[in-house]
Amino acid sequence: MDCMQMEVDKITNDHNDHLKRLFESHNQQISETKKKQWCYNCEQDAIYHCCWNTAYCSQTCQQQHWQAEHKKVCRRKR
Ligand SMILES: [Zn+2]
Ligand SMILES: [Zn+2]
Repeated sequence: MDCMQMEVDKITNDHNDHLKRLFESHNQQISETKKKQWCYNCEQDAIYHCCWNTAYCSQTCQQQHWQAEHKKVCRRKR
């Protein structure tokens, strides 16, 4: 039975290690996601930044959102 128990312990340890690594890489992904900006209009990766909390993936999205509502609330100084 001892032998069996050792085997179980080993598997449990390996499993915990694996979980720990997953957890760490998950945390890393979360902090990268937090730093990242997303298109305000369609939620793709944003490359055009307009003003605080507002960025877009393309000029098309920027213009659409500008016409729809953003022109009233834009914080960009002109
Ligand atoms: Zn977009
Ligand atoms: Zn703006």
